[in-house]
Amino acid sequence: MPEWPLLRALRGGHGTRSLSLTARRLHNLPWGLAKMKALECLNLRDNRLCRLTPDMEALRRLKVLNLGNNIFEEVPEQLTCLKSLQKLHLFGNKITTMSPLMCGGLQNLVLLNLNNNLFSYLPPEIHRLENLECLSLNNNQLRSIPKELCSLQKLRELHLSHNSLTALPEEIEHLAELQILRLSRNQIEELPEGLCKMASLRVLDLAGNKIQIFPAAIQNLELVELYCEGNPLLQKHPVNAIQEEDVLTLKEITARFILAQLKSNNLSLLRAIKQNAEAQDILSQQEECAQCGCGFLNMWLECVQFVDVKQVKQRMMTSRNMHPLPVRILLCSYKCFNRHDEGLFGIAVA
Ligand SMILES: [Zn+2]
Repeated sequence: MPEWPLLRALRGGHGTRSLSLTARRLHNLPWGLAKMKALECLNLRDNRLCRLTPDMEALRRLKVLNLGNNIFEEVPEQLTCLKSLQKLHLFGNKITTMSPLMCGGLQNLVLLNLNNNLFSYLPPEIHRLENLECLSLNNNQLRSIPKELCSLQKLRELHLSHNSLTALPEEIEHLAELQILRLSRNQIEELPEGLCKMASLRVLDLAGNKIQIFPAAIQNLELVELYCEGNPLLQKHPVNAIQEEDVLTLKEITARFILAQLKSNNLSLLRAIKQNAEAQDILSQQEECAQCGCGFLNMWLECVQFVDVKQVKQRMMTSRNMHPLPVRILLCSYKCFNRHDEGLFGIAVA
């Protein structure tokens, strides 16, 4: 009889704190559940539930709720009333999205497991889950993540493997506590520079994407695990420098002159620039030459350098047979390219 553990729990008084009703072919919530007001942990995984009932709202002490492997098509709205909920498992359902309203009601949530669903979109309001430490959305259909997700200040784990992501928001660097970022089996072509500023990041899984080259600052990350097999990474195919002089535009020459002057603290020029918003805007787009350190705007050479991360961090776990990583290096001129150290390659156009 499927209701047996519930009857036993009820007979045990209304003080029962934990109840498990897994794999009982339940189509509805069992009668009497709402009376168990002391319940803190409720496991209903592997059933046939597609909705919750309003009396569920009586479970004000519930901290852990497992609704995994059921047939929900949306995150049930009754959950917004469960203010003490800390861990919510909704993996293995048919959920396509989460209403913005939901995010406001689950403010004590620490763990949200939405693996194996049909999410193609996350609402920007996700940032309201401000206590979230672990968000798992493996095996969904996400094409992007909202930049608002990057303001989850307590987030330590973000699992997004097996989706259709093509890029990450530049704001990802704001996830200052993030330690684990799993992005394997997506369609990511380029990584934002901000990723390299994530001081807490220890595990980065990028296997099976479309990455050819990494930002140079990737070497600054304190990773203990890095996976990047199954990407079309640039290989070592030396390309000779084209021996020609740079022809710079007047704008570029002026910009380089101003950038050099600002670097040597030309105060009157600094003051003049401060009063000119347009000039400030243009100069803010400057890049720095990896060879001579000078600032420039447009005329640069994109090169690739191969960094043996295994040699730098010997204890780091990586994919087996990992080759040196190709990282992007920017140079201001052919002159700097010809002066380069060994191990710098032009990018071959296939
Ligand atoms: Zn240079």
